[in-house]
Amino acid sequence: MLGFQAGHYPLADGESVLDCLLRHQQPVPYSCKAGLCQSCLVQAVDCQPPALATRGLKATLQSSGHAMACQWHPDSDVCVRLPDNQALSVQGHIVGLQQLNAVVMKLVVQADDPTALAECHPGQYLNLVNSAGTIRSYSVANDCRQHGRAEFHIAATAQGLFSHWLFNAASLGDVLQMRGPAGSCFYVADADQQQPLLLVGVGTGLAPLYAIVNDALAQGHQGPILLVHGASSTASLYYRAELRALAASHSKFSYSALVRAGAADADCQQGDAAESALALLAALPVAQTRVYLCGNAAFVHNLRKLVFMRGVRSANIFCDPFVERATQSN
Ligand SMILES: Cc1cc2nc3c(=O)[nH]c(=O)nc-3n(C[C@H](O)[C@H](O)[C@H](O)COP(=O)(O)OP(=O)(O)OC[C@H]3O[C@@H](n4cnc5c(N)ncnc54)[C@H](O)[C@@H]3O)c2cc1C
Repeated sequence: MLGFQAGHYPLADGESVLDCLLRHQQPVPYSCKAGLCQSCLVQAVDCQPPALATRGLKATLQSSGHAMACQWHPDSDVCVRLPDNQALSVQGHIVGLQQLNAVVMKLVVQADDPTALAECHPGQYLNLVNSAGTIRSYSVANDCRQHGRAEFHIAATAQGLFSHWLFNAASLGDVLQMRGPAGSCFYVADADQQQPLLLVGVGTGLAPLYAIVNDALAQGHQGPILLVHGASSTASLYYRAELRALAASHSKFSYSALVRAGAADADCQQGDAAESALALLAALPVAQTRVYLCGNAAFVHNLRKLVFMRGVRSANIFCDPFVERATQSN
C-alpha cells in the first residue's frame, strides 16, 4: 500500500511510486521517468527509500529522505509526501527572453538571492518550475555562480507544456522556481589541463557545451578544445558569431557546425555531426581525450557507444541526454 497525502493506494507488483500515484490521478510532477531529471521528487515519511531511488541526488536531499518516485519500486508499504517546494527551490525572475532562431529561446533568470546559485557549475542543469507547476530540466549555458543570473537555451517542442508556455505566455518579471543544480556534465578543473576536449551537441545541446567551453577557457585549459554543433539546417544553428569570435581569440579552440541541409561555408559543413566528431576523435590521442555529449537522447546514447568503442575511457565521457517526458509507464 502507498500512503500519499490523506489517501492510501494499492501498489501493483513491481510498480513505481510515480506510476502508482499517476494511476490514481494524484498530482505529482514528473518528466523523464528515467531517473535523470529529478522532477518527480517525493519525500519519504517514516521509511527509507532504496539507494537506486536516490542515485545522483545531492547529499542534503538524500539525508532528508528525498527520492525519485520513478525509480522507487517498493516491496512493502511506504508513505510519501510531495517535497516542500519552497525549501528545495531558489526563486528567480525572468530578466531576459530572446529568440536565438525560429525554434530556440534564450531565457535568462535572475535568482532573487544572487548567491543562491554559487554551487552551480557551468553546464549542470536546473529544474525550472513555472507558475502552473510544470517542472522541466534545462542546462545552464553560462557561469551563474557569481551573480545568480542563469541563461538557458530552450527549444520549442510540438505540444510541449513548458516550451509552449515559454514561447507564448512567459514575460519579463515572471517568477520561476529553480531546483538543483544536478548533473555531472561540466568542466573538471583539477583534471589534466592538457587533455584534448571534444564537445559534441545537437540543437540546444549547445547550451551546456557553450558553458563548458567558456569555463575551460576561463580556467586556462591548455589542451585543444573542439566543439561540433549539429543541426537540421543553417537556420537551426545559433551562437555562430559568438563561437567564431571565441575561436578567433583562442587558438586552442575550434568550432564547426554540421547541418543536414543548407549552404556550406568555412565553419559550417553539410553532413553528420556524429561522423564529423568521430573523424576529429581519430586525430586525437583517444585514451587521453575527454568527451562531452549533449542534446537529443538517442543521438547522445548512440555517440557515447561509438566513442567508447573507439577507445575513449568511460570515466572521460560526460553526457547529458535531453530525455523528454515519458508518455507511458516504463
Ligand atoms: C538533464 C536534462 C537537461 C535538459 N536540458 C535542456 C536544454 O538545455 N534545452 C532544451 O531545450 N531542453 C532540455 N531538456 C529537455 C527538457 O527538459 C524538456 O523535456 C523539453 O523542453 C520538452 O519539455 P516540454 O514541457 O516543452 O514538453 P513536454 O510537455 O514534456 O512534452 C515532451 C514531448 O512529449 C510529447 N507529448 C506530451 N504529451 C503527450 C501525450 N499525451 N501524448 C503523446 N505525446 C505527448 C510532446 O509532443 C513532446 O514531444 C533537458 C532534459 C534533461 C533530462
